[in-house]
Amino acid sequence: MRRNFPDFPVLSFDMKILYEKIIPACSNWSKVILDGQVLKITDIHGSQAVDFLCFADEDRQERYNAPNTLKAAGTIALTKGHHLYSDLARPLFTIIEDTFIGHDTIGGCCSTHSNKMLYDVDGVTGCRENFLNALAEHGMGRRDIVPNVNFFMEFPVSEDDGGAISTGRSIAGDFVSLKANLNVLAVISNCPQINNPCNAFNPTAIKVEVLAGYGCSPGPSNQA
Ligand SMILES: [Zn+2]
Repeated sequence: MRRNFPDFPVLSFDMKILYEKIIPACSNWSKVILDGQVLKITDIHGSQAVDFLCFADEDRQERYNAPNTLKAAGTIALTKGHHLYSDLARPLFTIIEDTFIGHDTIGGCCSTHSNKMLYDVDGVTGCRENFLNALAEHGMGRRDIVPNVNFFMEFPVSEDDGGAISTGRSIAGDFVSLKANLNVLAVISNCPQINNPCNAFNPTAIKVEVLAGYGCSPGPSNQA
């Protein structure tokens, strides 16, 4: 169900687009986002999961950390006002805009190996392999893959602690904007999964933009 957020300000309309790229279905992308710049990710067609890793560019051993992020947020489902914290508990990115509301922090990424484990299919590559390809361009690899954020995806947990990936509920044009709090390497796998419903069994293209000129308040944080 789509959650209500009626007073949502659209801050990035006032910003200058420095970079824009369409990421085809099932492919990967990476780029260093400079301190103060905004990375905007748009789900062009809807129901498309975007697996996401990030690293402090000055020392890429410092990377996104799910436990710090969800403990600070007080929820497993991220939205505007939440921060993507590192293992050193520094906020690498802050979510300043979000039309989806409730991005996953616990489901991790799909892979050739998990596709075999879960769906008994052979040789079907996933986000882990996309991450490896993207990270290789930066001299990085398997050790750099940690449990990632999944934008436009949900892994709902029931009252009896049951959980599973749900059908992608994002609609065409949904977007999330992340303001970099230092120079951050962002890595994306545009999820190729067709064995579960996170992409509604139809992976599609997304758009990434890098914006600058952010000068207004992101509004009150969801946390104290
Ligand atoms: Zn995936």
